[in-house]
Amino acid sequence: MVFKMRYFVFALVFITLFFQYSFASRIFLDEIQYYDFGESNLYKVRKMDNPFAVNPRPYDVIEYDLYLDWYNVMKNPTSMDSLDRIWFGVNTITAKSSVDNLTNLELDCAGLYIDSVFVSNGSEFQKVVPTPKVINKKLIIPLQTNLNNGDTVKIKVFYTYARNIPEENYRGFYLYPKGKFVGRLPAPFYDSVFVEERLAYTMSEPEDARYWMPCNDAPYDKANARITVRVPKDYVVASNGYLDKVLTDGDTAKIFFWISDKPITTYLMSVTTSKYVIFSDWYRKVTNPNDSIEIQYYVWEKDFKATKTDGSEYNAKNTFQYTSKMMEFFSKTFLEYPFIKYGMTSVMPFNFGGMEHQTITTINRVWLRQNSQFGIAHELAHQWIGDLVTCATWNDIWFNEGGATWSEALYAESLWGDWGYNYFLLSSRQSYLKKGGLTLPPIYGLPTNTIFGDYAVLVYQKASWVYHMLKFMLGDSLFFQTFRSFLQDFSFQSITTEDIINYFSEKVTNPLVDFSTFFNQWLFKAGHPVFVVNSAFHSFPNQDNRYEGVVTISQTQSGNNIPEVFKCPVRILFKSGDTLTTSSTLVVEERTQSFKVSLPFFPDSIFIDTTSVLCEVGDIYLTSLESNQNEEIKIFPNPVEKNQILFVEFSEKYELPIILEIFDILGNKLLTKKLDLSSGRIVSFDDVGNLPSGMYVLRVHSPKQIHNHLIQKN
Ligand SMILES: [Zn+2]
Repeated sequence: MVFKMRYFVFALVFITLFFQYSFASRIFLDEIQYYDFGESNLYKVRKMDNPFAVNPRPYDVIEYDLYLDWYNVMKNPTSMDSLDRIWFGVNTITAKSSVDNLTNLELDCAGLYIDSVFVSNGSEFQKVVPTPKVINKKLIIPLQTNLNNGDTVKIKVFYTYARNIPEENYRGFYLYPKGKFVGRLPAPFYDSVFVEERLAYTMSEPEDARYWMPCNDAPYDKANARITVRVPKDYVVASNGYLDKVLTDGDTAKIFFWISDKPITTYLMSVTTSKYVIFSDWYRKVTNPNDSIEIQYYVWEKDFKATKTDGSEYNAKNTFQYTSKMMEFFSKTFLEYPFIKYGMTSVMPFNFGGMEHQTITTINRVWLRQNSQFGIAHELAHQWIGDLVTCATWNDIWFNEGGATWSEALYAESLWGDWGYNYFLLSSRQSYLKKGGLTLPPIYGLPTNTIFGDYAVLVYQKASWVYHMLKFMLGDSLFFQTFRSFLQDFSFQSITTEDIINYFSEKVTNPLVDFSTFFNQWLFKAGHPVFVVNSAFHSFPNQDNRYEGVVTISQTQSGNNIPEVFKCPVRILFKSGDTLTTSSTLVVEERTQSFKVSLPFFPDSIFIDTTSVLCEVGDIYLTSLESNQNEEIKIFPNPVEKNQILFVEFSEKYELPIILEIFDILGNKLLTKKLDLSSGRIVSFDDVGNLPSGMYVLRVHSPKQIHNHLIQKN
């Protein structure tokens, strides 16, 4: 109660400031430009001395109480004059020191003009003189008295947004006039698109919240948030959490009071305003069917009224019809939906498809006329993987994006079964390989400006495989049990990759591959295994009527930061004809490793199941361990003992010339011989008896065919 009274006092001061600045002079705008530092130093390649370092600031934000007066920027629907692009904000930040003798508080702040700053250590707010300035995108506020560990302080920053910049340079805050031509959409839509109503919104991930509010703009620091926004009375405001109240302010304005009742990090905070129609759907809780959660949609009236579903109209009701089903699916798969409401705002133009703002995803309006179910599922899954539990640093972004991309596959599985799941997995694999595969760096430790750009395929598609391979290794039941308890235990917190590794190591004993190796090779190292398979089976069954054989799996990958050996379970499929199939999951742990296998039939083909591990597959060889005297080619002796000579004899049916090559299992050619009319039909290899023990491949090229045969050297 006291807090709110104080708030209104400052709102009054603020409104006075508003009128003062509404008639701002050119000098004022020049000042803004002076404080608007360049973008070039924003991103730096991270040092990897301690790969898990969070390097938190020496305080923890408890609450942001944010007041945004967007009346001025919204009042004229079509104007983009510089004076119509100025707005004012007040951020009241409650922070708790985590060290002794804290003398000042450093906030992130960019492109904003600081009007005044007040500090309260429990008593009245005192003005900081002189007013701190933004330097190198930081706002350093001297505290009136030093803080000790656990002490709290309130800081009130009055600021002005007045960036007179072209749209392509927008950061954090986006403003578009009614009637703006967005562009012509490509096939099959073709039509021209206009901004239907004046539109303003924020878009912050990864580090742009500082462009619209001074804050600790780091994903490790979650806080409660109140977001209060003043707009012309015919506009509505969507934001995080629940709408506490809407007050009318005079004849022309409204003030929307939003409250995040759960902790939120800055990049997930969001404000969107336009002349929207709001409509709702309800998700019935899986844990309590008598209770429901509201899903609120904010769309332009035209899109609400649309009836066509053939893609010729932006049809909000058509696009959103599956959301409550999806919420049910993810609530069953992960945990009960963790927030007080869900919703989506449709905006255009938008540089992205969707953005998982906590409880209120922003989507590109284009989604209203496309099949966007998987985009919607992706952003919804982020409410658990990203919002409920959040990456603590941008190095950990693979947790968010890999998880949401993998969730698309889970949703596909719920619709279409295994086929749907595998289709998404293999599409991700394809994207990753196409983008460079073995030439790409590790998932972890990418420069922040590449995670949603050049290397997005690593933190989205490749990382979705990290989830999948963990699930494959543990089996569905153990994996989901552990993952659910992880989400539960870290609810409303931010986590590092180290937290994930430690959690799984603690909860799951004796995994097929220990977790430090598993995560190390997939996150901190680059690439993936490239397999070559050699196998040889007896062509006669044993006394148990099974066919025994040896499968040798070799890894041939090489490159910068790529492990010599990936330790991973690999599923091998054996087939005979079209009907007989069996599989065997082998845990490879060496560069070349042989496994004894017994099958219920003699296989005529072998495959690596590329849904079991992210890999590429080179040559696969399969042969019989017995030489069959009826065949047109005789290879003897096989196996070859030390110092023995290998003979290969061809029947009259073989056309000459024939070229014979012997390879090791990594594909290196060791020996070559040619058989022509002058040399008869038998070839001898004197040197095979001197080769190291192991499997070799004899490749036979005749004019009409190429055969591979396995040679075993004892
Ligand atoms: Zn995402």
